Amino acid sequence: MFIKKIMQPKPTEHEIIVAGGGISGAAVAYGLAKKGHKVTMIDAPTETNKASRTNVGLLWCQSKFAHLPDYAKWGFHSCRLFPELTKELEEVSGVEIPVNYTGGLIACLGDDEFNTRQDYIGKLKEELGEYNGSMIDRAELERKLPKVPFGPEVTGAAWCEEDGIVEPLALLRAYLVGFERAGGIIKNTLIHDVQPVGGGYRVITEDGPMDCERLVLAAGLANRRLAQFAIADLPVSADKGQVLLVERMPYVMPIPMLGVTQTFGGTIIIGFRHEFVGHDTRIIPEDIATEGKWAIRVWPELGRQRLIRAWSGLRVMPDDKQAIYSKLPGHPNATIINTHSAVTLAAVHTRYIPDFIINEDLPELARGMTLKRFGYTC
Ligand SMILES: Cc1cc2nc3c(=O)[nH]c(=O)nc-3n(C[C@H](O)[C@H](O)[C@H](O)COP(=O)(O)OP(=O)(O)OC[C@H]3O[C@@H](n4cnc5c(N)ncnc54)[C@H](O)[C@@H]3O)c2cc1C
Repeated sequence: MFIKKIMQPKPTEHEIIVAGGGISGAAVAYGLAKKGHKVTMIDAPTETNKASRTNVGLLWCQSKFAHLPDYAKWGFHSCRLFPELTKELEEVSGVEIPVNYTGGLIACLGDDEFNTRQDYIGKLKEELGEYNGSMIDRAELERKLPKVPFGPEVTGAAWCEEDGIVEPLALLRAYLVGFERAGGIIKNTLIHDVQPVGGGYRVITEDGPMDCERLVLAAGLANRRLAQFAIADLPVSADKGQVLLVERMPYVMPIPMLGVTQTFGGTIIIGFRHEFVGHDTRIIPEDIATEGKWAIRVWPELGRQRLIRAWSGLRVMPDDKQAIYSKLPGHPNATIINTHSAVTLAAVHTRYIPDFIINEDLPELARGMTLKRFGYTC
């Protein structure tokens, strides 16, 4: 009996455990370590859902979301913090982060699409008060991307100066190296369960239990399971995206275009599907062909190139599409973070969420993003 008692790990073994080492976990873990906290980040070594390794890397604000103005402003704020973030991460980690702060475009096919987009941008402008962008006609689009021979149906585009693109794997790598250099510890093991214990939390991993004072759940869709000790039905679901990859071409698209985006390496990523089909990650050729056909209408030359890969990923989508940054009900020392567009939001996550984890208020723009909006007390 006595032996059993002293063998149990103490709740203070780790100050903070961050469960999940995707872009959300890495962004907050780095921010916490930078502030001098003792942080251990646990990331599964397996093929669990890893949206952070399947995304396009757009820093994207112009289509998210006119009906959620605070959330839209939060995204813009993050994009404005990005140059400072990437500079700092490059210095701290030594990892080069390819990134273009060149604005972003959404191509329109035909007049109807142009008008619909124009209405949307008008609404967004109204909600935001200020907006650095506008609809541009085809001639202006051709001036912005003179080396892309657009198809005859392209009538113009929506243009937002504050969008951009980052190499998402380099960003993630820089965070992870920066985190370790700031004193953080990364453990690659699978978390089976989390239990409240003695005022702290016990994280049950493949390699045994680990106890902590504060817990951050940043395990993407797995948060639904790991948060069960406090919330039976986390309002987050899987939003599947399927993408096609076109072979390397000369670099002609320094300004990213939604749905057909050239990577820094020269390949083209095609795709913008949102599907709610549970955790089914199969590639469905008929589905993804739709995107391929659309992309050829925008940029006909793509039809003559080879497709070299297709993949799918599961976005982490809160039920009302807005980010969730919240204490878990009844657990002021357990924070949950779940959001789509976690690449775009990485800069605000690093800047503000660490203080929230340590029990300060969220910044005003994000105060409505707790679980209270779903009726929970937290
Ligand atoms: C096709 C596609 C394109 C996208 N394009 C963009 C884009 O252009 N711009 C943008 O901003 N966003 C984009 N996104 C969304 C973005 O990728 C996600 O918002 C982001 O990856 C979510 O990050 P996360 O860290 O919250 O979750 P995840 O990336 O899912 O990371 C969760 C982490 O937790 C770990 N984990 C899970 N379960 C366990 C466990 N039991 N034990 C230990 N560790 C565990 C996983 O290994 C993983 O590393 C895209 C998503 C998809 C699918």
